[in-house]
Amino acid sequence: MPENQIATIGVFPQAAFLPLRGECAVAVVCRFLCFGEQMKALEEKIVKEGTVLPGDVLKVGSFLNQQIDTVFLKEMAKETGRLFSGCEITKVLTVEASGIAFATAVALELGVPMVFAKKHPSANVSGEQYYAPVYSFTHKTTYTIAVSREYLKREDKVLIADDFLANGNALKGLISIVDQAGAKVAGCCAEIEKGFQGGGDELRKKGYKVESLAIVERMEDGKIIFRE
Ligand code: 5GP
Repeated sequence: MPENQIATIGVFPQAAFLPLRGECAVAVVCRFLCFGEQMKALEEKIVKEGTVLPGDVLKVGSFLNQQIDTVFLKEMAKETGRLFSGCEITKVLTVEASGIAFATAVALELGVPMVFAKKHPSANVSGEQYYAPVYSFTHKTTYTIAVSREYLKREDKVLIADDFLANGNALKGLISIVDQAGAKVAGCCAEIEKGFQGGGDELRKKGYKVESLAIVERMEDGKIIFRE
């Protein structure tokens, strides 16, 4: 059987186990074995410590966005490393600032460098850059994100990481940067996905492997409901 084809078992929806764009056989098997398993501890932490703010914003500053629960971060990175094991990732890419902690922890787990795109022109950036426009959900403005060409090469297999996945604009901008470098997108990961905003499913439909540690299906009257 070719490397990118794995047999599926009838009781599961077959489409769930087809190899995704750039996904290796080991990752497909891992996905198969872990079907249905979610990071329940993160869901519990979101319910306990999260607050729903106007405009569909979920505030998780106590452990993820401003104060970071480092022991829990390590657990999330470990789980993400497991989800992408065997994908031969050479770099983790994110965008400043809120993606940096998670991306660093994941890169540490995978033993590869972490690169972050800058949102603001900086005096200590030199040389040629890759650029992409990104509309920010939280700041309601469009940034031009930039990555130095020297940090992404054609031979790289890149895991794109962010704290939140909402409409998918940040990830799409980062995918554009990986494409400009001629490198390969191994997949995308987020600590929390807001499924109702559709960005994650749009990328999955395009064939990207997208793994979020918790997927919020709805936020109603301050209550948080997760995807089954
Ligand atoms: P997207 O580009 O997918 O629409 O939004 C993802 C980006 O917006 C992330 O980098 C994240 O920082 C921010 N973001 C989106 N939704 C939320 C949210 O509900 N809470 C927080 N804290 N950040 C969010």
